[in-house]
Amino acid sequence: MNLDIIPCLNDNYSYLIQDKHSGKVAIIDPSEFGTCNDIISQKYKKLDFILNTHHHIDHVGGNKELKKKYNSKILGFGKDKKRIPEIDILLEENQEFYVGDLIFKTLFIPGHTSGHIAFFFEKEKVVFTGDTLFSLGCGRIFEGSYKQMFDSLKKIKSLPGDTKIYCGHEYTKNNLKFCLKLNPNNIYLKDKEKVIEEKLKDKKPTIPSTIKDEIQTNIFLRCDDLDIKDALNLKNASDLEIFTKLRDLKDSF
Ligand code: ZN
Ligand code: FE
Repeated sequence: MNLDIIPCLNDNYSYLIQDKHSGKVAIIDPSEFGTCNDIISQKYKKLDFILNTHHHIDHVGGNKELKKKYNSKILGFGKDKKRIPEIDILLEENQEFYVGDLIFKTLFIPGHTSGHIAFFFEKEKVVFTGDTLFSLGCGRIFEGSYKQMFDSLKKIKSLPGDTKIYCGHEYTKNNLKFCLKLNPNNIYLKDKEKVIEEKLKDKKPTIPSTIKDEIQTNIFLRCDDLDIKDALNLKNASDLEIFTKLRDLKDSF
């Protein structure tokens, strides 16, 4: 798989992937036409598929113009068909789909929106998580319940540890501050801080992370950590209660 990270708008990431065998090209969450088209027209000159993780404008903003120019097929969650502009192929939970020889599985991960999905390329060990799991953070809960988001993160957490995570935004620096505040003694987090600072200093994306890395450092995936429970003064709380508290605190961080 060839993979290009395309920084878009303020802090969005769109991603281009190509199957080396068939040459088929897909874009994940095109935020805008211009920036995405620049690299497509230079490098591939074609676009077979447009994959949307959810309906927010900063993830579907390029749908219409890209489809018009390249005659691409747009894929999104079937139950969100009214909200994904120009959708052609309606994906269901756990549905598999081929981009050339590359196969992905559709993971249904509601919470940020009620129809949010991830694209998991098991053989390539790559997952596109949209605005559900970020590096060191998770998305805001706009349409779902805390429980739904918690369960969606649990689903992502269960993927193989060496799976690379490509998420929808470069929010890592702010997320890091929040994690350090509540989990200051986490040695993995301190190591990750150095790596992140290096990358940002060189103006590079902090993406991708990995599942293993996130489990070690992302406090939203560590709601069973006694140090975090302690820091919140919620020693006897359930993991879901901890998650709820963390999400609320982060909303106003
Ligand atoms: Zn969003
Ligand atoms: Fe977004």
